[in-house]
Amino acid sequence: MLSAFVSAATIASQSARRVTKDSRVRKPLSPTQTVEIILVQKLVEGIHQFRNGIFSSEQSVFEGPVDDQHPPVLFITCSDSRIDPILLTQIKPGALFVLQNAGNIVPPYKAAEDGSGATIEYAVSVLGVNNIVICAHSQCEAMGCLLDQSHVAKHAAIGSWLCHAESTRQIIEENYAHITEATERLMATVEENVLVQLEHLQTYPSVAEALGRKALNLHGWVCEFETGQVLGYDSLDCQFVPIGETNFKAPWVTGGSRPSRELRHELHE
Ligand SMILES: [Zn+2]
Repeated sequence: MLSAFVSAATIASQSARRVTKDSRVRKPLSPTQTVEIILVQKLVEGIHQFRNGIFSSEQSVFEGPVDDQHPPVLFITCSDSRIDPILLTQIKPGALFVLQNAGNIVPPYKAAEDGSGATIEYAVSVLGVNNIVICAHSQCEAMGCLLDQSHVAKHAAIGSWLCHAESTRQIIEENYAHITEATERLMATVEENVLVQLEHLQTYPSVAEALGRKALNLHGWVCEFETGQVLGYDSLDCQFVPIGETNFKAPWVTGGSRPSRELRHELHE
């Protein structure tokens, strides 16, 4: 992959030089092409910074035998370009096993063949993670598509993926008629979807078994892009609350207990 980026940047820069030398036979680069070249060059610069910076200081993590990988957390989040698990948590490489997809969705056990199930099973059964975090975010376009079914109708793959969040859409339709403002309705969808996907997680035998042994905690988070704050689902108060340095309470599920959906809605009405 590295050589592919280097090649792309080199070719782009050589092409730019040729254009400068002989503008009679070649058209000048369009603004879009120039932006693309600058972007690829930034990626290459970033790779060099990685090698000279974090790779040098954490080389043992990268070099270690594959069996030495013991991340304590499976971090499931959205593919949105603004979400970066390492950046968000400021944790060192090696601590998070990451699963990223549109809408931070967890298809129920054996309901999809996209690789999510294998990632979850590997994380829990082989790596032995102690925590699974599902981290959503405000302004989620995947959840926007879920609410606006016209996108689903136009794009078959999006439709078949979002079917794993159909329960979320139904919960919003049935319980959130009082929230009509678009941003608030989207945020309610984002939050409810985290809880639905946490429920899906428990359909995995490896997850259920680890919960039964009290060897695993599940957490539901939402990152608010507007404030930079991360909200965590508080299973005692049945609501998302800002995660501070001192107020972090119980995870959503520890060893099998979970709040009822009815109770959550009663508290929010
Ligand atoms: Zn998203």
